[in-house]
Amino acid sequence: MKTIPLQPIDEPAVTCSTCAACCCQLEVMLITDTGVPERYIDTDEWGGEVMLRLDDGWCAALDRDTMMCTIYEKRPLICREFEMGAPECIDERQGIATAYR
Ligand code: SF4
Ligand code: SF4
Repeated sequence: MKTIPLQPIDEPAVTCSTCAACCCQLEVMLITDTGVPERYIDTDEWGGEVMLRLDDGWCAALDRDTMMCTIYEKRPLICREFEMGAPECIDERQGIATAYR
């Protein structure tokens, strides 16, 4: 007999569409050239290139109305490899009380 796992009712499914782009507040180092526009690039204290973050903590390339990446096709490697539902993702979602909309 096949058992179908049930999603607990009070636990929202982990998906970017119900998340306030929590991972886009993390520091993102640019370790490869993916074509990120210069205006979104900052320099960290060791001289390395990172994504510019604004005063509210979110990445400068994030659209604040849609909470989606405006440079998705050119986003850094680290952003491409950040896996939805992975432990790091769950940690980030729990860190922001307004993550679930
Ligand atoms: S923290 Fe997880 S669910 Fe939220 S935007 Fe990032 S990958 Fe998606
Ligand atoms: S480049 Fe895009 S995916 Fe990466 S942190 Fe910024 S807004 Fe998020």
